[in-house]
Amino acid sequence: MKETAAPGGSQRPLSLSDLSVNQLAARVSDLGAESYRVTQILDGAWRSVATSWSGVTTLGKPLQERLANEIRFSAFDEVERQEAEDGATTKLLLTLSDDAKVEAVLMRSPADPRRGSGPRATVCVSSQAGCAVGCPFCATGELGFTRNLSAGEIQDQVRIARQILRTEDRELTNVVYMGMGEPLQNIDAVFASIDGLTDPVRGGIGQRRITVSTSGVVPGIERLAKQRPQITLAVSLHAARNPLRDLLVPLNRKWPVEAVIAAADGHSRATGRRTTYEVTMIDGINDRPEDSAALASLLRGSGAHVNLIPMNAVAHTPWKESAPERIEQIANQLRAAGLTVTVRRNRGREAGAACGQLAAEKAGAPTPVAVARRRELLVAASAAALQGQRTAQPIAPSGPLGGES
Ligand code: SAH
Ligand code: SF4
Repeated sequence: MKETAAPGGSQRPLSLSDLSVNQLAARVSDLGAESYRVTQILDGAWRSVATSWSGVTTLGKPLQERLANEIRFSAFDEVERQEAEDGATTKLLLTLSDDAKVEAVLMRSPADPRRGSGPRATVCVSSQAGCAVGCPFCATGELGFTRNLSAGEIQDQVRIARQILRTEDRELTNVVYMGMGEPLQNIDAVFASIDGLTDPVRGGIGQRRITVSTSGVVPGIERLAKQRPQITLAVSLHAARNPLRDLLVPLNRKWPVEAVIAAADGHSRATGRRTTYEVTMIDGINDRPEDSAALASLLRGSGAHVNLIPMNAVAHTPWKESAPERIEQIANQLRAAGLTVTVRRNRGREAGAACGQLAAEKAGAPTPVAVARRRELLVAASAAALQGQRTAQPIAPSGPLGGES
């Protein structure tokens, strides 16, 4: 395989989904092949179950071989599958060409006649290997940041999900950028991947079926509203007040609650779409009466949708999910404030699954000393935050990629 600079300047082998249609056409022409081959290649990539060039039988062997020498068919060296929830959820651990690992999760739901919706299949994609934001309840945050994914590496997670579904005679209906990483801190690649996914000759997925979730990167939310207005925005809020949100989403020190809400409202006005707020429910941390009252008063009248997600346990935190009854009470309190609320069951839990957990396991556990130290820091920091004090420093991840050993 020829080493060619992948977008982003790194020396990774070039992969098919990293090429625009024009770039692909130029490569095909350089190889001396006819221009109609471009359509055959894109159909093979997006509308077949081929996992390598040799599976795209319309191309014929000589062209398959020439292409295989130039361009990787898939961005992934290895795809490891784990099934959970009686086959409703498939977790994919994907090894990239430089050995970085990311996760994608495929979730299937049956038709819901009450809501008039047909069967759904949603793929949750990663936008980065690791994440630099460092939310302390998140397994990906704990890993620290490895690198941004390219547009092709993001799109290929969707290609694989579609192939799996095709073998089951199902259709992919939705894509959510809620896997590893902060999509709006890799915004150019994320936008380029959206362009590939929505291009009729490539992914052909409706813009409105795509959701980008952010921990609150304000300039990114503004760009999303201006440049990709059909995309649904989800904001990971977790807390309505700054001292607690500083702890739960360290980026809050840069863009505090008010700025995030203002940007989300601006998005909603510009796009005519309602914002979804995500709140990971953590026992005794963000589910106290004062927290839910602050959340209801912050979002009252916004017409937003709120997803309450029970926290998935992760090794390095002393925290656990809120009691189901408490989550139901909060849901009702928010409904009374005019919001629509969904209480999410956490999909894929059996597979060890909040975002990044599988990859975190593969990266190797942080040392027990580092975990114990981090837990102590979190207990101390949350005690301060719960009393309304803003702390100066975010808590560094305990590793294995992120720092202390
Ligand atoms: N970085 C983006 C998108 C990826 S995280 C963001 O933070 O929005 C996707 C969602 O999973 C976020 O709402 C995040 O808060 C949530 N999440 C992370 N760790 C979790 C855990 N242990 N339990 C439940 N939800 C979690
Ligand atoms: Fe990053 Fe999102 Fe995890 Fe926070 S919750 S560390 S932003 S992936």
